This record gives sequence, C-alpha cells and structure tokens, in this order.
Amino acid sequence: MIADLFAVYGASGCGRGVMPIAEQQLRRLGVPAERLVFVDDRPPAAVVNGRRVLTYRDFLASSAGRHQVVLAIADAGLRETLAQRCRDDGVEFWSVRAANVVVMDDVEVGEGAILSPFVTLTSNIRIGRHFHANLYSYVEHDCIVGDFVTFAPGAKCNGNIVIEDHAYIGSGAVLKQGRPGRPLVIGRGAVVGMGAVVTKDVAPGTTVVGNPAKLLVKV
Ligand code: UDP
Repeated sequence: MIADLFAVYGASGCGRGVMPIAEQQLRRLGVPAERLVFVDDRPPAAVVNGRRVLTYRDFLASSAGRHQVVLAIADAGLRETLAQRCRDDGVEFWSVRAANVVVMDDVEVGEGAILSPFVTLTSNIRIGRHFHANLYSYVEHDCIVGDFVTFAPGAKCNGNIVIEDHAYIGSGAVLKQGRPGRPLVIGRGAVVGMGAVVTKDVAPGTTVVGNPAKLLVKV
C-alpha cells in the first residue's frame, strides 16, 4: 500500500507557522517525515525550513494513497478558491491541531482547520470548514462559526456569538458575549480590526475598529 502524502498549502508566513505543528502531529501518528511537504503555486525556494516545496501539479503527480492538504493561507477568499480546486481534483483535507489545544464538550470543527498553540474551544460550539484559529485565540460556549473564518493571534470570541462565513477577527480583538437566543452577530466577510472591542452586531462586509468598535469609513 502506498502511504498518504500530507501537505501544508502555502509556504509563506502562515504556512511556515503551521508546518512545525503539522510535523509534530504526524510524528505522533508515526507518519514518516518525508511524507509531509509544502505546496505552493509560486514556490519561494525548493526547500523551506528543511521541507520540500512542491508545486500543486507536482504534488498531484506524486504517488500517494491519499493526497491530503491543509490550506495555510490567511486570505479566506484564496482558501475557498483553492479548496474548490483541491476538491475537484480528489484531494482530501486534514486538520492541524497543536498538542496543547484545549477542546471541551460538544465541539464540532469542520474539515481543514488549523488550531495553533494555546487555542481553547470551550463547550457546545459549531465551527465550519477551513477555520484558522491563530495563537492564543479562543471560542467560548454556544458559538456558531461559519466557513473560512480567520482568527488572528489572541482573538477573543466570548459566548453566544455567531460569526458568519469569511469573517476576519484581528489580533487581540474582543467580541462581547451575546445572550441565549440573541447572539452577537459578526456578518459575512466582516473584518474586526486588531484590538477592537466589539459590543454590537457587525454588518456583513464592513470593517470595525477601536473601543468601542465603530465602522471604519475609508476617506
Ligand atoms: N499561494 C498559492 N496559490 C494561490 C495563492 C497563494 O500557492 O493561489 C501562495 C503564495 O505563493 C504564497 C502564500 O500562498 O507563498 C501566501 O503567502 P502570503 O505571504 O501572501 O500570506 P500568508 O502566508 O500570510 O497567508
């Protein structure tokens, strides 16, 4: 039987942060080191941090039981485009989770997630596909998080919050907890700026910044 081939897709900042976590995870599972590679459509070098970088075409052409990818690219739109391409080509998605991630009760996380070191997901949480939870971010109880959502380092999502697809929560931002039956809602594709303190719903496609967070009007 031919072994699976695992890839971290994206060999730039995000991918280089994910690779060591991926490596540790696969080592724990006894996967040989050479079965883990970077994939990048514009390889910055043939080898990055000691790992081979393959183009997507070369990855697909490599002999493997299953081809498995985690999309380590911060831009959610690119993640969605690449997810569709991978799916069309029969590539599967794996999730990368640091060893010290805390996951409590009744938590569902969709395929292709990246849970970085010191992430906590508490209880009764639903999270969609290709979620990125960067260092020290958390999701508290009774939250619903959509697909292709990105949490920068230290993003704080308190209880009873709904975050729609493609939203981006900046570094150190705090989302005020909602109430049962009346969640705080971060709309589809909304951006919450770093350090923002969000006390009210954020409309889809808008950007909020500051404390308390206000609509960013670009001049
Ligand atoms: N990339 C790719 N295919 C695409 C778009 C991007 O392989 O269709 C790669 C790109 O070549 C780069 C990485 O993804 O190496 C994105 O890196 P960037 O520094 O822009 O962002 P980050 O690492 O923070 O996500």
